[in-house]
Amino acid sequence: MTTNAPVSDGNLLVRGGYVLTMDAAGDLPAGDVHVRGGEIVAVGEHLDAPGAEVIDAAGKIVAPGLVDTHWHMWNTLLRGLSDGRPEGDTPGRSGYFKTCVSLGRQFLPADTYAGTRLACAEAVDAGITTVHDWAHNIRGIEWAEAGLRALSESGLRARFSYGYETGHPNDRLMALDDLARVASAWPAYSAGGRLHLGMAWRGTGGSNPAMQVAPKLYREEIETGRGLGLPISVHACGPRHAAGQLATYASERLLGPDLQVVHLNNAWTQEISLAAAHGTPASVSPFTELQIGYGQPVTGALLAAGVPTGLSVDTTMLSGNADMFAIMKVTQGCANALAYDEFALTARDVLRLATIEGARTLGLGSVTGSLAVGKRADLIVVSPHAPNIGVLTDPARLLVTAAHPGNVELVIADGRVLKRSGALTGYDVAEVTQSARNALTSVLARA
Ligand SMILES: [Zn+2]
Repeated sequence: MTTNAPVSDGNLLVRGGYVLTMDAAGDLPAGDVHVRGGEIVAVGEHLDAPGAEVIDAAGKIVAPGLVDTHWHMWNTLLRGLSDGRPEGDTPGRSGYFKTCVSLGRQFLPADTYAGTRLACAEAVDAGITTVHDWAHNIRGIEWAEAGLRALSESGLRARFSYGYETGHPNDRLMALDDLARVASAWPAYSAGGRLHLGMAWRGTGGSNPAMQVAPKLYREEIETGRGLGLPISVHACGPRHAAGQLATYASERLLGPDLQVVHLNNAWTQEISLAAAHGTPASVSPFTELQIGYGQPVTGALLAAGVPTGLSVDTTMLSGNADMFAIMKVTQGCANALAYDEFALTARDVLRLATIEGARTLGLGSVTGSLAVGKRADLIVVSPHAPNIGVLTDPARLLVTAAHPGNVELVIADGRVLKRSGALTGYDVAEVTQSARNALTSVLARA
């Protein structure tokens, strides 16, 4: 599989910015980052980098690329179609789950490609350099390949979690043979190692929450995923009635660093302790959890218990967009509100969740999430020269409370420049959005 992402000469010096390394080196108020061959080869002051292209970052903020930890990228095509009423004006369209299933059934591989590509373009624009594509509308191997093609072309770092089809019957196994086929051919899909494979598991509840998946089926699914050596992700304890899912996974001996759990809003305290004890990572998606009525994100409780935690977009059908700056801000706000404490979660804490801690939850802690020698070169430059910032005070606080994707001037992922001077280098935005509109038109016509 090829990539259309632009390849720089691979020798870049980002010079003189306020560098938030999010690593042992701490902050460098006038620091340089030297990138060569896709890797960070030096971080420091007044670096000498003969032959490198110099990118002036003086007066700007340099930070690790942001890390998303769970995102149903295909359904970005359906942005705005979940209208917040049990039954919408248009048959088949209503709340998130019904809309997702009824329109998801009409997706052809080209639609999955168009939706995922739109999401990828949005990620790059927003300074997100790592995504976890939680692909839960795989209606055949071609749908998986369509999503993988969009990820490969994007230049982003990604986990692709191979799932099922939206609306998958609870009494039928996931397509485990297809998953095994993709796993065995993985080097051909991996975009030179930028992409890694995971399994999006439907859990014990399946697609229809009113019905449980038989233990015989879900055990075979998770045993297959583990047998293939894949990290697994599952939604757990989202809706209030669903508390206890994590206890079920614990009793089945499924918890561990290779099982990511999403939405622990209604987990019991002892379930959160179990996750911590087993090193089970969690993903918090504050905007979608709030929009769908799962209750408050429980970031503070997760961190207090020691659960490895990352932040996520989840679905732009509910969150509207993939603005990780806003996700950080609402995460901090909710945590402080719940604690009745202005100081419960600092901007620096939440920036760690969106960078190094998020990377660790995906098993990528040694690869990305901070600016350190030997890591892959995933970084962003944020310019304060805009009315919504204007001053360069506490850079971490500015990123969390003030910045938005429009302030992201430069994005480098795996050493490639994907956004420069505020413009995407690998996408013709007019074409990406036009093909998304065309794909949506054909999905709606078939519905
Ligand atoms: Zn989700």
